[in-house]
Amino acid sequence: MPPVDTDTSPIKARIQELIDTYPVVIFSKSFCPYCKQVKELFKGLNVTFEVLELDLIENGSNFQDVLLGMTGQKTVPNVFVNKTHVGGCDKTLQAYKDGHLQQLLGAESAMYDYDLIVIGGGSGGLACSKEAAALGKRVMVLDYVVPTPLGTSWGLGGTCVNVGCIPKKLMHQTALLRTALEDARKFGWEFSEEVSHNWETMKTAVNNYIGSLNWGYRVSLRDKNVNYVNAFAEFVEPHKIKATNKRGKEVFYTADKFVLATGERPRYLGIPGDKEFCITSDDLFYLSYCPGKTLVIGASYVALECGGFLAGLGLDVTIMVRSILLRGFDQDMANRAGDYMEIHGVKFLRQFVPIKVEQLEAGSPGRLKVIAKSTETDEVIEEEYNTVLIAVGRDACTGTIGLDKAGVIVNPKNGKIPVNDVEQTNVPHIYAIGDILEGKWELTPVAIQAGKMLARRLFAGSSVKCDYVNVPTTVFTPLEYGSCGFPEEKAIELYGEENLECTVPGRDNNKCYAKIICNKLDNDRVIGFHYLGPNAGEVTQGFGVAMKCGVTKEQLDSTIGIHPTCAEIFTTMEVTKRSGGDIKQTGC
Ligand code: FAD
Ligand code: NDP
Repeated sequence: MPPVDTDTSPIKARIQELIDTYPVVIFSKSFCPYCKQVKELFKGLNVTFEVLELDLIENGSNFQDVLLGMTGQKTVPNVFVNKTHVGGCDKTLQAYKDGHLQQLLGAESAMYDYDLIVIGGGSGGLACSKEAAALGKRVMVLDYVVPTPLGTSWGLGGTCVNVGCIPKKLMHQTALLRTALEDARKFGWEFSEEVSHNWETMKTAVNNYIGSLNWGYRVSLRDKNVNYVNAFAEFVEPHKIKATNKRGKEVFYTADKFVLATGERPRYLGIPGDKEFCITSDDLFYLSYCPGKTLVIGASYVALECGGFLAGLGLDVTIMVRSILLRGFDQDMANRAGDYMEIHGVKFLRQFVPIKVEQLEAGSPGRLKVIAKSTETDEVIEEEYNTVLIAVGRDACTGTIGLDKAGVIVNPKNGKIPVNDVEQTNVPHIYAIGDILEGKWELTPVAIQAGKMLARRLFAGSSVKCDYVNVPTTVFTPLEYGSCGFPEEKAIELYGEENLECTVPGRDNNKCYAKIICNKLDNDRVIGFHYLGPNAGEVTQGFGVAMKCGVTKEQLDSTIGIHPTCAEIFTTMEVTKRSGGDIKQTGC
């Protein structure tokens, strides 16, 4: 065994040299998990550091003895920042949490109240703020709901929870139960009484469920150390916002970084009577009375879903369509979804737009007269309804949040925010996620994924980006329509009809229909998936995974189906659209 050098003065000189030379020095042991944690912290802060692994040098234990003499601490990690002794793992993490570490580092973030302020507590904002806080950041999220023109308002959680996916799906399920009841009779169930639906009971059940979710979000923010403030936020300077609560009290907060996640709100038509007498989806789920005979204006996701479930509840529903159904979706599928709705009682008034809404009688519901004109001829029509639901798209909530004061560029045509592939706006410390993004999907899981990934990139050194390609989605029409990848029209435009193969089995007896589009130039890879049938959301989710893995037609053919299901059809598709073969299903 070689003699050990017990003269500590050269070691002390070496330690002092390291401390004097490098802004951050970590005396560490390569296998120690606490040392690893501290190194990760500095990596996350993008701070370079010098490490001396004491287990990998010959006289490491002598270094520890000298460090004990210098700092009173023998254990590792032993951290120095800008010549100041910080301590071990716990002390370093604590110093980071209370901002002392950032001050020692001279970091810009130490100058601010928060590392991150998120504006908007919806799907994207909540996901991002919770993730950032879990990574040890000082995070604030502000959420504030501006009441609708009719005064409807709600709690924390954003569109999805309060006025979107959740209440919509619950009401859609309520409507499907009616169909199930009808089926039940056919299979021998006997009800002694006439079955009827009570709107108020449904509304109370839906609202109670939403209330429990609002509460759950508040608790989870508290548990995760996110500071939640129920106030409207607007920029007053690039790093400073004003938060105004419902009593008008103003408080100012600063942050190193900001995430905009303010979502969208329903657009009005700008015709006489729209804001005074009509409702939007923001009111529908809280309506205290049954809407009665209803006109739905619009022909996309919101209009078809709401019109679908209202008709399913037994109401007289008309949908006024300006041009086509479900713009951007495969039109063959969209029209089939519409045909099914028509057969099941929804009336479509095609190629008409409203020009005026008048109140004939106030009430719950009252009576409204709608005057509409044709988009093709001079024809003007009028009709009476109890309720008019406007579902003509949504506007990004970016107009009143002081983005000009922060220098953030907004598309003046639609209020959307352009970002690069890491969701960064033109102002480097301000990011944006969710529905307000230009040219991205307006879906809850997309906003959540973007929010989480962003927090990890900002604060954990990750480089993983949100993948906006092949996002599966489902329109919850009475017969649900799930899709992933390209609509047939878009696939033809991009690849040419001759390079594609569409395979299409249908089910004539109940209007189910399925179609996949394959790229012949790429091993028959599936580039479009379309399914019209029950439980389309559940079915489409799995195929979305398969498409992310690059599934080919051959792989679908070699997959064994689950019988008897609707989804098994994708494992046995044989008829190509080009062949014009019979697509009616026979057998079980
Ligand atoms: P949001 O969830 O809208 O959250 C934004 C929050 O910020 C809101 O609470 C807002 O009040 C708040 N806010 C705005 N400005 C400020 C400010 N200045 N200060 C403080 N707070 C502010 N998606 C699906 O994936 N599946 C579905 O089935 C589905 N169904 C839908 C049904 C309907 C009727 C609607 C309208 C939408 C539906 N969506 C669905 C879309 C989905 O709800 C949105 O894509 C999602 O909620 C977007 O999340 P976000 O975080 O961008 O914004
Ligand atoms: P969209 O922007 O998708 O559609 C707007 C509809 O309104 C179109 O049919 C459009 O017709 C019509 N329209 C627009 N202006 C007028 C007008 N002046 N007069 C008459 N009709 C008009 O909006 P939605 O509100 O339906 O959906 C917003 C987003 O919310 C969706 O993109 C979707 O991402 C999300 N969402 C998702 C759901 C889900 O996942 N199941 C459910 C609901 C919403 P035209 O085609 O002629 O322009």
